[in-house]
Amino acid sequence: MRKRVLVALGGNAILQKGQRGTAEEQLSNVRHTAVQVASMIEAGYDVVVTHGNGPQVGAIVIQNELGSSQVPAMPLDVCGAQSQGMIGYFLCQSLINSLTHAGLGDRLPVCVVTQVEVDPNDPAFLNPTKPIGPFYTEGEARRRMAESGEKWIEDSGRGWRRVVPSPDPVRIVESVAIRNLADAGFIVIASGGGGIPVVKLESGEYRGVEAVIDKDLAGEKLAQEVCAHILLILTDVPKVAINFRTPQEKWLGSVTVDELERYKIEGHFRAGSMGPKVEAALRFVKDGGERAIIASLDNALEALYGQAGTQVLP
Ligand code: ADP
Ligand code: MG
Repeated sequence: MRKRVLVALGGNAILQKGQRGTAEEQLSNVRHTAVQVASMIEAGYDVVVTHGNGPQVGAIVIQNELGSSQVPAMPLDVCGAQSQGMIGYFLCQSLINSLTHAGLGDRLPVCVVTQVEVDPNDPAFLNPTKPIGPFYTEGEARRRMAESGEKWIEDSGRGWRRVVPSPDPVRIVESVAIRNLADAGFIVIASGGGGIPVVKLESGEYRGVEAVIDKDLAGEKLAQEVCAHILLILTDVPKVAINFRTPQEKWLGSVTVDELERYKIEGHFRAGSMGPKVEAALRFVKDGGERAIIASLDNALEALYGQAGTQVLP
């Protein structure tokens, strides 16, 4: 039986640090990423892909705000949907090309614009923490706070920035469609940027909310809902470390969930970067997943073979 792998691509899969984010730059990074993903498919894995969208949705928010004297600015959920379409396009086109080169032109990628349900009573809504969009002056930030009820903070000396809540994903709204597409042999790209956060109203209707869901936690939910055997989180470090960036730094090869849980409680993993990856890996394996792996993009296949990355086992 083919093993199904949920691959969560980090920001570096689409944009490298220091790049401006032109379409050419992003497409060139994604081409490199698509070669990695195609190599997993060539090796016989059944792949479902998710990806981050931080820089891309940030740019779309800036375009909307600066263009708002000419055309209406779209809210954050709509900007998230736009970023899923743009990155999905880059990934689909690059994957078709890589798969065709590998003689697998019959395996078709497809991108699903994905909504992710969150709980309106999630405590994250009381404490927005995730900075998004452009930097503004204090005066402008205070005006926006007074007018709209938005929360703005001073972001490490660089100016004022809007912050939004980062609630936990509860359910992938399109999961049945995604699972059916994967079962039919399509390479599905879904839940980009953690998905578009929506809440279910008492009427049973969905409504988009101004929030950002962590892409690794949403990826874990998606992995469960498509019955993946392996959760593979690809980022820009080769492994997870304890005592990260200290003289006692130690890179983890293979760990059990109990060991990793202990390191988490000891505070080795930063919120907003390695923290959610470790949490996603723990949730996946505790809920019956075979294995979760955190590795660098360039070692994707070796990581699946157990020869690279941090392997999280039951
Ligand atoms: P991604 O875009 O892949 O989600 P992030 O920047 O969110 O990337 O997370 C990866 C980063 O986490 C690494 O570049 C590294 O600097 C940082 N990091 C924080 N704590 C650790 C740790 N304990 N071990 C390894 N990397 C860590
Ligand atoms: Mg991240």
